[in-house]
Amino acid sequence: MEHPYEHIVDLILAFLIIFLFPILYFGLKLDAITQIIVQSETSEFVQDIRSKGYIDKEMYESYLEQLSKTDVLLDICMENRRQNMEPEYRFRTSEEVINEQNDAYTGTNEYNYRPVSTEIPNVKDPIDNSGGLNTETNESMLENAVKTPANPTHAHTDACYDGTRHVHTGSSLSGGGCYTGKYYHSHSGNSTSGGNCYSAMYHSHNMHCYGKKWCPGRITSSFTCSSCGMRFAESATVGAKCGASVTDYSNLTCTKSTSTVDYWYLNCGKSEGQITGYYIKCDKKAGAYYNGNIEVFPHCNRKVIDIVPTHPKQKVYLNEPLITTATATYQDGSTDMVLCSTAYTTNSVVNDKTATLTYKDETETTFTKTIIVSVIPRNKTCANGHVYNMRNDNTDPGCPFCRAYLKSLIVSYPTSGKITIYKGTTLQENAVTLLATYMDGRNEYLTSGYVDNLDKNYVGMQTVTLSYKGKYTTLIVTTKRNIRRCPICNRHYELYPDNTDPGCPYCAARTPVFTGNVLEYENKYYEFDIFKELYEGNGSYYFSNRDYFTVTVTNRTGGRGMGLLRKIFKGSGDEYIHVADGGYIREEIQK
Ligand SMILES: [Zn+2]
Ligand SMILES: [Zn+2]
Ligand SMILES: [Zn+2]
Ligand SMILES: [Zn+2]
Ligand SMILES: [Zn+2]
Ligand SMILES: [Zn+2]
Ligand SMILES: [Zn+2]
Ligand SMILES: [Zn+2]
Repeated sequence: MEHPYEHIVDLILAFLIIFLFPILYFGLKLDAITQIIVQSETSEFVQDIRSKGYIDKEMYESYLEQLSKTDVLLDICMENRRQNMEPEYRFRTSEEVINEQNDAYTGTNEYNYRPVSTEIPNVKDPIDNSGGLNTETNESMLENAVKTPANPTHAHTDACYDGTRHVHTGSSLSGGGCYTGKYYHSHSGNSTSGGNCYSAMYHSHNMHCYGKKWCPGRITSSFTCSSCGMRFAESATVGAKCGASVTDYSNLTCTKSTSTVDYWYLNCGKSEGQITGYYIKCDKKAGAYYNGNIEVFPHCNRKVIDIVPTHPKQKVYLNEPLITTATATYQDGSTDMVLCSTAYTTNSVVNDKTATLTYKDETETTFTKTIIVSVIPRNKTCANGHVYNMRNDNTDPGCPFCRAYLKSLIVSYPTSGKITIYKGTTLQENAVTLLATYMDGRNEYLTSGYVDNLDKNYVGMQTVTLSYKGKYTTLIVTTKRNIRRCPICNRHYELYPDNTDPGCPYCAARTPVFTGNVLEYENKYYEFDIFKELYEGNGSYYFSNRDYFTVTVTNRTGGRGMGLLRKIFKGSGDEYIHVADGGYIREEIQK
């Protein structure tokens, strides 16, 4: 099926092919010729100006005349670009100045590391570990004491007794000493029957034994013969005148013999009660030993002749008793253990001191011997394993090691572990505080007294080691430069690390500096400026060296070819003449 419009399109295409294309072709051909003319005229004009360095009215008007022959209304634009050069100055920022100062700094800023070390406190609390402490006591010694028997060859001597051997003294005759007993005389017997003390008086005839003859005298009375006892009666024959009888010896009348005891008479020669002798009257036994009146027995098994301390060298803890036993040797050679006394008190720490043991035996004989005594304090092991001595009174003084040794060391101020300080100042001056914790839990805040290896003269960041009593910690220290107040601008600025003065960067920033660049900028002058010189000035426009001169020529009215094309195709541009030529003034022109 055919559309009715297709016939109309076919007609239009036929019209175009037959009429329009030839017109368009010739128009475009003419445009090209115009372009070539404008181009060559313009090129000649530009070269003339470039080689002369100026343009005058004649040159310009001659050019216009050549162009007018093209019969196209043309637009001529002239442009003179002039390069200007100026050194570039600028103000620096203070930061820039500071950076420049730093770059220019030739002084040193070297960090010097120093090792830092502190000693762990030296605690002197020596423990006597040499041993040798008493393991026994007086009680145990005595309990286990062994006696040794007497020497079998021992025979008692006077020395075995605490007394004297008794020997009776005095005599039975003269008494004295032990002979205090007395014999007294007592007559025995009597005169009629005799007895020890009486002697017999044997009859001896006397005149009376004989018969009498009376004395011629008278007998006045009876009488008894004193010799024989014969009684004469008055009536007896009186032989004697006196009356007394006279003996008639021839007449023995007594009936006795001479062995007849007439009587007994005391004839002992002693008086009644007279001491006749002595006898031993003594309470003591001869050969026995006595001390005073007390009989004593051998004490040679108890009489000490020497003692030897069982522990001549002892070591004990403070206030512990010494062993005061000694082996006693008795006179009879037996031995036994005895307990001595001592005035020595173990209440102070000593080394190899002499102590005296005293023993008084039963005979009140005192023996003294010396022993060597060492007294050491008791010790204790703390929770941290330190062994330390107790006090003299056995109380616990607390561990001196834990009191002296640090458990930890940390930086207490600043808490961040970082600090910024001025060069040349110390950590102490910046109040850096350490917290030292001792093993016994005590805390000590240290604002001084610790050691550190801060390099005060180094500017920058450094890790400083701080040490106290053998513990170490670190602090990151940033050391700033010292600052100075500028007398001109009153602002503070940093000195160089070595404290030399770089000058105030703020004041320095106020002075412009040459950037090192030459500032190039362009001034553009156009035909207006040129015409002003040509028609109002002195008739010539002079270019500067290295100016750039450009002439651009375009058509103002449409050409034949392009004008038609533009009508057909809207927006295809209206420039069909476009010539541009230019170059630097006085540049060697190469064609
Ligand atoms: Zn004896
Ligand atoms: Zn006696
Ligand atoms: Zn007598
Ligand atoms: Zn007679
Ligand atoms: Zn007689
Ligand atoms: Zn007579
Ligand atoms: Zn401890
Ligand atoms: Zn300043």
